[in-house]
Amino acid sequence: MSEVFQTLPWQRALWQPVAAAIRQNRLGHALLLAGPVGIGKQRFALSIAAALWCRSPDAEGQGCGVCADCRQVLSEAHSGFHLLRVEEERRDISIDAVRALTEKLQITSHDGRAKVAIIDPADALNTSGINALLKTIEEPSPGSHLLLISERPQALPATLRSRCQRLRFAPPPPDQAHAWLQQQNPSADAERMTQALVAARGAPLRALVLLENQVLQQQADWARSLLDLAAGRAEPVPVAASIGDINAAAFIHWLYGWLAQLLALRSVNGAGPDDSAQQSLARRLGPALLDRYIAEVQESLYRVLSNANKVLLLESLLIGWVGLLARSARNPQNAA
Ligand SMILES: [Zn+2]
Repeated sequence: MSEVFQTLPWQRALWQPVAAAIRQNRLGHALLLAGPVGIGKQRFALSIAAALWCRSPDAEGQGCGVCADCRQVLSEAHSGFHLLRVEEERRDISIDAVRALTEKLQITSHDGRAKVAIIDPADALNTSGINALLKTIEEPSPGSHLLLISERPQALPATLRSRCQRLRFAPPPPDQAHAWLQQQNPSADAERMTQALVAARGAPLRALVLLENQVLQQQADWARSLLDLAAGRAEPVPVAASIGDINAAAFIHWLYGWLAQLLALRSVNGAGPDDSAQQSLARRLGPALLDRYIAEVQESLYRVLSNANKVLLLESLLIGWVGLLARSARNPQNAA
C-alpha cells in the first residue's frame, strides 16, 4: 500500500466524515477546502479524488496509490479528473478555462463514475468565472464534485461560499507537527524544526519546504568555507566556530558525502566545460591522502555522537583539511 494518498496525521478528523460520505455515495457536489498555506489542502483534495475511483481502497477508505486509477490521479491524467490553476503570465483563472471545465463536468460519464474538478486557488477566479461556476453548482450533474481550495475564503463572494460544504484546515498542535517533520527530515535538529515551524506559522508542509531550503543554503555555505580554506582565504578556527556545536553532527555527515563526491570527481578525466571549483580542487588532491582524510572524517561521525567537544572536533577536521591540501601540493606525484 502506497502512502501517497494517506491523510496527514492532523487531517484524520476531517477525513473520516469525507470517507463515510464517499462510501455512502453522498459526497457533496461542492466542497471548499479552506485553511492556511502549507497545511495539505491540495493533497487532501487529491486523496478525495483517489478515494472516489480507487479499485482497492484501504480500511480508512484511502486510495491505494498503485492501481490504474490512483496512478492516473497522481499524473493528473485521469479522464474524470480536472485541475484548474492560475496559468502562467496570468493573475487569475480565465473565464474560458472555467467554461471549458463546467462543460466537462456537465457531460455525464459513460461509465457512471465520478468526476472531480479541483480549483486551486479558488480566490483566483474572477467575477465571470464565479458566475459560471455558480450555475454548475446550482444544477450539478450526477457524480460531479467541485473541490475549491482557498487560503483566503473570505475573499470569495458569499453566494459561492454559502453553496459549498466547508472543510476547515487548521495547523496541528506543535508536538504533532514536530513529529511529522522529524519523520520527513530525520537529519534536521529540533531547534531548526522549531524555527521553520514558527516561520511557517505552524503549517508543517510549508515548514518542510523552509527547512529543506535552509539546509541547502547551509550546505552551500559550508562548501564555500571549505573552498575558502583550500584557497587560504579562511582559517580553520573561526570556520569551526561559525559551524558551531549544534550543527557539528550535520556538518560531519555532509562533509563525508562531499568528500566522497570529490573522490568521484577525481576520476572524471579532463576539464569539461562545466569544470567547477570542486572539480579543480579534486584534481589537486593526492588520492591516498584523500582516502586517509575520509577515514578520519568517518571516525569523527562516531566521535561527534559521544561527549567529545564538538567545536574542537570540527577544528581538528578543518585543520586536517588544510593539511591535506598542503601535503597534496608538496607531493604533486600524488595528484592528477
Ligand atoms: Zn488505488
